[in-house]
Amino acid sequence: MIISFANQKGGVGKTTSAVNIAATVASLGKKVLLLDIDPQGNASTGVGFMDRSNLRSSYDLLTSDLPANEAIYHTEFKNLDVIPSAIHLAGAELEIAELDSRERILKRGLAIIKDQYDYIFIDCPPTLGLLTLNSLVASDGMIIPVLCEFYALEGLVQLTNTVENVKAYHNPGLETIGILITMYNSRLNISQSIINDLRNHYGNLIFRTPVVRNVRLAEAPSYGTPILYLDKFSKGAQNYMAISKELIERTEKR
Ligand code: ADP
Ligand code: MG
Repeated sequence: MIISFANQKGGVGKTTSAVNIAATVASLGKKVLLLDIDPQGNASTGVGFMDRSNLRSSYDLLTSDLPANEAIYHTEFKNLDVIPSAIHLAGAELEIAELDSRERILKRGLAIIKDQYDYIFIDCPPTLGLLTLNSLVASDGMIIPVLCEFYALEGLVQLTNTVENVKAYHNPGLETIGILITMYNSRLNISQSIINDLRNHYGNLIFRTPVVRNVRLAEAPSYGTPILYLDKFSKGAQNYMAISKELIERTEKR
């Protein structure tokens, strides 16, 4: 199953969630591929791929005929592979803009490796351009990370409209697996009322466990490791463990 982490806002926890859910789901015995299509490459860094200058990448997948299996690298973490990002990815949208079926390139590319994995998680850039569109067209489902803040609902309405368009024109099967609340601070009264608002609007689409604001989660990328392998007793690691179990539960009963 292919799942995108998407939200047009930056800094909402897409990459942190993609990296940590990928690693945690993999640790639970699933075969997982993390696909980084954000030119910034933070997800690649997060699983130990800091220097990507000589690696094959998602850029090759989008702009050449390179078979996807040739861009896969094993990480040092259990059951977790990665297709890293490359800096040229920033230009890929322009390079493919004129192609026929330009929004289906990733879907076609992933077809040959899809069955090798239980889950392929895609970390999207913070835009709703061609890269994210390719990701949503290739995906069976998506997870929407949102900041636990007053404006959460507003941003979600915009994104929901885009998703409705993608479903109507490109990928009717695209399913919202869940909305994931990030950077939760239980000491703020407002946090609980934001969660209540979101639950009133979106009901069970909201993952049961929010991700707390936890400095270990922000530190982990500098070690090139998911939180589980840095500090598995941290709140962040425990949250992502609960969320990963809920994700498996949600997707396996489909
Ligand atoms: P996005 O991919 O949506 O732009 P990131 O996952 O990169 O967002 O997160 C933005 C910043 O916030 C990063 O520096 C990241 O390390 C940090 N961060 C993400 N989630 C948390 C959290 N739960 N607690 C503390 N810091 C976090
Ligand atoms: Mg990111």
